[in-house]
Amino acid sequence: MNLILMGLPGAGKGTQAENIVEKYGIPHISTGDMFRAAIKEESELGKKAKSYMDAGELVPDEVTVGIVRERLGKDDCEHGFLLDGFPRTVPQAEALENILSDMNKSLDYVLNIDVDRENLERRLTGRRVSPTSGKTYHIEFNPPKEEGICDVDGSELIQRDDDKPETVKKRLDVNIEQQQPLIDFYEEKGYLRNIDGDQDIDEVFQDIEELLKGLHA
Ligand code: ADP
Ligand code: ADP
Repeated sequence: MNLILMGLPGAGKGTQAENIVEKYGIPHISTGDMFRAAIKEESELGKKAKSYMDAGELVPDEVTVGIVRERLGKDDCEHGFLLDGFPRTVPQAEALENILSDMNKSLDYVLNIDVDRENLERRLTGRRVSPTSGKTYHIEFNPPKEEGICDVDGSELIQRDDDKPETVKKRLDVNIEQQQPLIDFYEEKGYLRNIDGDQDIDEVFQDIEELLKGLHA
């Protein structure tokens, strides 16, 4: 199954990606995670990406498309993949069509997790993450067993800088504007599937499972 996960910040992409990977065993390919890892390793790619990321800008398409092409060519993508954070622009979406067609593959679905603006704000401001395990929680909707402590590795949970209330509204505005052309692109191609993301975490996943039933992993 060849999938793209879309949705505004706070929609629950990371949360559902975890469920999808666990159930279907396809690799989760997040360009943001790949760039962060490259920066940590101080690789050539990391050097290229860092200045853009620090400035809150998109990394240029040629760099981003290059790493996605390389990643999708790896053996573990043979039976499918879950792209997250890519594509972010229509040129990236067009490049992805070319990459897949070169590999004799095509997309199955673009899952768009759709959530009300008010809920997005509550989810983002209440989100807490473990800096070491990467696991995401919510103070109200998905709390850890012990307040402020990661279930997986016992680390102290933190709030991302961009999840502070003063930046959340601006971030949502910018993302809504950036996302629309991509939604239109995939709607026109017939890949777009809207998932009602205003439900509980388990209910959202049930809807995803229902949709993916017809696809073989
Ligand atoms: P994204 O990766 O799309 O930015 P996350 O998966 O990090 O979103 O989820 C944002 C926050 O909302 C997290 O704190 C997460 O625990 C919480 N969350 C995710 N899905 C739901 C849901 N269906 N209902 C309530 N809270 C949710
Ligand atoms: P956020 O939700 O805060 O944007 P991500 O982890 O998705 O977080 O991305 C972090 C940064 O990585 C982005 O601000 C951007 O600089 C870079 N990035 C990630 N994906 C892409 C992409 N598809 N195209 C260009 N830049 C990207």
